[in-house]
Amino acid sequence: MNRLAVLGHPVAHSKSPAMQNAALAALGLDDWEYEAIDVPPEEFDDLVRQLPDQGFAGVNVTVPHKEAALAAADEASEAARAIGAANTLTFREGSVRAENTDAPGLIDALDQPTDRLAGREALVLGAGGAGRAVVWALAEAGMNVMLWNRTRSRAEDLATELGVEVIPPAQHAGIDPGPFEVIVNASAAGLGGRDGLAELPIDPGGFHAGQTVVDMVYGESQGTLLEAADWAGASVVDGLEILVRQGARSLEIWTGRKPDLEVMRAAISR
Ligand code: NAP
Repeated sequence: MNRLAVLGHPVAHSKSPAMQNAALAALGLDDWEYEAIDVPPEEFDDLVRQLPDQGFAGVNVTVPHKEAALAAADEASEAARAIGAANTLTFREGSVRAENTDAPGLIDALDQPTDRLAGREALVLGAGGAGRAVVWALAEAGMNVMLWNRTRSRAEDLATELGVEVIPPAQHAGIDPGPFEVIVNASAAGLGGRDGLAELPIDPGGFHAGQTVVDMVYGESQGTLLEAADWAGASVVDGLEILVRQGARSLEIWTGRKPDLEVMRAAISR
């Protein structure tokens, strides 16, 4: 049996096992299985070293282990190194390789040719772990990224590190999303069924057709941010689609096969 897992703390809520096992079954990979393993931070490194001997081919890594995953690896992709975090580990020939599929997964979810993104304007809300991957991905695709974060100093630090701009203080009371082609909520605003739009300084009157609005946060129903964007005619991408796209990239790294996205979406649909 080829074993795979998601490592997190907590991780019981994770939709990845249902999603990845459905994808593996649809590919006919009956000798592969994917599970969730709850591991506290102090045990993470030891567990990663033991997993190859237990039959694991690779793991996804989620909160709070993404930085530790990069540190635990013997080699890492350029994206993982630049972002400073890994969500995918692969065990091969005694070596641990770290990759970050959150960044290319986000670009996949935008569903646009990369050359169409280059030179266009993007707005990223949130400068935590998800924000780092999103800012790096969009900047790498050639977009002009403006960053906002609730704690302004954190946005300034990340913007300086990754070479993007911050939203000027004058706009902190209300950002007009109109000029931006891509808008990504990579903050925890709206988590747990809260009103995300109310927690963000976004004027929903500025949404319009032709934009793509992404909300990384997902819950029982579509949040207010995407509701407003959808109502205005923008294309919307929810956090479940982001989960599917990063998971599809990880599965392809481990198995060499492209999973069926519809099967993955159906396995985790609300
Ligand atoms: P994190 O590192 O803990 O950062 C949290 C971020 O959210 C910070 O920028 C924080 O701002 C901001 N924030 C928290 N509460 C807020 C509020 N009420 N209003 C505005 N901003 C708020 O977490 P993370 O790893 O970046 O994840 C952020 C969110 O993205 C998570 O909640 C998760 O739902 C989502 N996510 C989804 C996927 C997916 O696959 N769909 C993957 C990763 C993350 P401060 O700096 O001011 O505290």
